[in-house]
Amino acid sequence: MKNCQLDHGTPAAAPRKRALALFSGGLDSILAAALVARLGVDVTLLHVQHLWSGGSAARERLQQAADRAGLPLRIVDAIDEHLDVIRHPKHGYGSAANPCVDCHIFMMKVAKRLLDEGAADFVVSGEVLGQRPKSQHYRALLDVAEESGLGDRLLRPLSANLLPETLPVREGWLERKDLLSLRGRGRDAQAELAARLGITDYPQPAGGCLLTEASYAARVFDAFERLGRDGVDRAEFDILRFGRHFRISHEAKLIVGRDERENGVLARYAAGRTLIEPVEPVLGPTALLEGRASEEDALAAASLVARYCDVEGRERVEMALIRDGVRRTVWVEPMRAEDPRFAGWRVEDRARAARRPTA
Ligand code: SF4
Repeated sequence: MKNCQLDHGTPAAAPRKRALALFSGGLDSILAAALVARLGVDVTLLHVQHLWSGGSAARERLQQAADRAGLPLRIVDAIDEHLDVIRHPKHGYGSAANPCVDCHIFMMKVAKRLLDEGAADFVVSGEVLGQRPKSQHYRALLDVAEESGLGDRLLRPLSANLLPETLPVREGWLERKDLLSLRGRGRDAQAELAARLGITDYPQPAGGCLLTEASYAARVFDAFERLGRDGVDRAEFDILRFGRHFRISHEAKLIVGRDERENGVLARYAAGRTLIEPVEPVLGPTALLEGRASEEDALAAASLVARYCDVEGRERVEMALIRDGVRRTVWVEPMRAEDPRFAGWRVEDRARAARRPTA
């Protein structure tokens, strides 16, 4: 046995514990992950992708941030499932169309699924107690842990010592003294921690999610009212991000592109809708008329689109209406700014006085 390299008298080292760290791209999530990694855990960043996460450029930024932190990144596409959370949030909405508590629960559920498949031993999140008054107060954090099914397998290292004990501490995988007691909206402690962990290049706190914006929320709730919550599909949610939106009648809505990029996006969604555009030599936006529009609605819509065209003093403009490959043209007067329909149809203006649903 002279050549045997094994030392049978030394117990094998316990395997390192593994964690999935939810990663939004913001500082808190990378800090939480980096802190736990520094404590000897194998951490994988987990980004749950939803419709408002951004496209390939956003994914590239996430990858760069993960590379800088030296942590592997896993991206899970959960777009369609997430839309259901937006349609039917159990805990209601925040100040706009943002169901943040339900959204957090959903992200944790995605992480739990991976945990149940054996991807890790526990989940890490960068939530900070009291940082967001509606979704990160004490009770909300407990609800998220409980309703996601993660329970004590969810560790929030930045506020861990202000919250009930979790599995990684109880089992001795991590020590309480190494975890933090951050509370509230201040950012100084995070900046200090970032410096301590050597994280120097990080994004500033994001205004971020479009669901928190009042104008987008007005469009979402208008669509819910018109189509029913389950009738607002992925394409409709996407269209709500672009153009100016006008509710012409209960049945019909007009969306007018604001620049070339939006014109291109709207043109991609023309199937099942009427595409409206000026006939050359007049130049102007691309617009979509959707819903069950009467002939009167279609003419009014064409008149409104003509308002945004380069009419050069023309009193009447020829507009093309194209639906299912069939093209016809109509002559209309551009709608005047003082026309009461103009302001009255804007979805954002209509929503201001309307009562917003809460659940
Ligand atoms: S801000 Fe947007 S992405 Fe973040 S939790 Fe709220 S709804 Fe979800």
